[in-house]
Formats: sequence, C-alpha cells, structure tokens
Amino acid sequence: MTHKDDCIFCRIAKNEIPSEFLFENDNFFAILDKNQDIPGHALIISKQHYTNLIDMPTTLGTEMASAIKEVSEKILKNGAEGFNVFINNFPAGGQVVMHVHIHVLPRKKDDDLKLIG
Ligand code: 5GP
Ligand code: ZN
Repeated sequence: MTHKDDCIFCRIAKNEIPSEFLFENDNFFAILDKNQDIPGHALIISKQHYTNLIDMPTTLGTEMASAIKEVSEKILKNGAEGFNVFINNFPAGGQVVMHVHIHVLPRKKDDDLKLIG
C-alpha cells in the first residue's frame, strides 16, 4: 500500500484516525465529510495515495464506479431524492485534500442548492 504520512486521508485509511466507514471494498472506503452543511455529504476515498483522478490507475475505474453506486444507493435509501457525484482535481479545480476522493451529495427536489454558477 502506498501512503503518505502527512496526508489526512491516508491516516484515515490506515485507521490512525478512527472513522466510521459507510462502505468499503478492496480499493476504496467511504466516510461522511467532516463538513455536514449538507447532511449525509459523503466522500469515497482511495485506500492508496493517489493525488487526483489523473494519478489514479484506470484499472480502478470499475471498482470506483461500483463504490459510487453503493454509496449513492444508501443515500437514496436514507431519504434523498437525488444525488450529485463530483471530483475536484488540482487546486484550480477546488481540490483542497491532495488525495483523490469522490464527493456524493444527497439532494432534495427543493433544496435550492446551486453547485455551479
Ligand atoms: P476537496 O475540496 O479537496 O474536494 O474536499 C475535501 C473535503 O474533505 C472537504 O469537503 C472537507 O470538508 C473534507 N475533509 C477534510 N478533512 C477531513 C477529515 O479529516 N475528515 C473528514 N471526514 N472530512 C475531511
Ligand atoms: Zn493520501
């Protein structure tokens, strides 16, 4: 496993910072984002350290898609009416934690959330 000592998501992956995993497969796990302004906002995080989507091997794509579907299905079961999936890449793309992660945001029909613009 490739990890970086100074990376918060690597530390969570190694269980140095105990967190409740909502989901786990061989190469990914999901936790709640620490910012719960949108309740249920989840992050799917690679177990190994990859900086961003470009750095992540394409061979993990199927497993990533399956993790996204499982977490999204849980979000729908918990009462969301829809969801958004996105990855911020590089600081210019809004990335703050430099370890690839997928945001899954629960949505309601009238929540008035504007993600872009
Ligand atoms: P980015 O802008 O890099 O796509 O988003 C990073 C996300 O990670 C932010 O939504 C932030 O709230 C979340 N985050 C940062 N540090 C932690 C942490 O230690 N635990 C959890 N659960 N989320 C974190
Ligand atoms: Zn990392």
